[in-house]
Amino acid sequence: PAFAKFEDVWLAYDEDALAAGNFAVEAIDLDVKQGEFIAIVGPSGCGKSTFMKLATGLKKPSRGAIRVDGQPVTGPLKISGMAFQAPSLLPWRTTVDNVLLPLEIVEPYRANFKAKRSEYAERARKLLQKVGLAGYEDKYPWELSGGMQQRASICRALIHEPKMLLLDEPFGALDAFTREELWCILRDLWTEQRFNVILVTHDLRESVFLADTVYVMSKRPGRFVVRREIGLPRP
Ligand code: ADP
Ligand code: ADP
Repeated sequence: PAFAKFEDVWLAYDEDALAAGNFAVEAIDLDVKQGEFIAIVGPSGCGKSTFMKLATGLKKPSRGAIRVDGQPVTGPLKISGMAFQAPSLLPWRTTVDNVLLPLEIVEPYRANFKAKRSEYAERARKLLQKVGLAGYEDKYPWELSGGMQQRASICRALIHEPKMLLLDEPFGALDAFTREELWCILRDLWTEQRFNVILVTHDLRESVFLADTVYVMSKRPGRFVVRREIGLPRP
């Protein structure tokens, strides 16, 4: 069954753009299967970030419909976790406390956060271990390298066990070695937990390495042009 469905989705950022027929994304038709890892590749300005805003409900489509997990999308964080190119950890919080942040915000965790804080912190520590951050749980972001901060931000994106992980160029700022290591870590987490992933990247190699299905967006009208199912053996 489809986990997420985009039906003829168009977005113009404002009334003037709409009147001028100037769409940031247009005519997106896309089904995401349950547990599927999809990648969207394309050059700068083709609409990848706009697509993410639509997928999280940060933007409403000018035309068309989006359903995720059987519901119209309402807003960020409800069922999704997000990570971006910049790790954007809160500088005054330790690694664990940064990872815990979604649990302080999202129901049902928020309601009993105080009572369950130590249990949640334990969960955060386990997750941090999986991404190779054992020993850094109580450090502050400025004590971590860029790659370590990005590991922590992926943990933060997953701590509330979202059904969908949205990644917007999460490895773009990393050196090639760290990047490939994080690819493997992400694939291991996905294999274990089977959340849906939408990864936006301009790294074709990354998309082929990670995703079940790669969509190519272009700047031409009718942007969502090519769909390629990658026949990689999956664990
Ligand atoms: P990408 O993420 O692939 O670089 P974007 O989704 O950021 O592409 O941009 C797609 C198009 O939408 C571009 O033409 C861009 O200029 C335009 N755009 C992006 N964000 C805004 C915004 N906040 N307001 C108006 N236009 C925007
Ligand atoms: P809150 O639950 O109010 O968001 P945080 O745990 O995020 O608090 O912040 C912890 C402490 O850091 C608070 O005392 C807060 O006042 C302080 N703080 C808030 N914003 C900043 C900032 N930009 N830089 C440094 N400290 C901050």
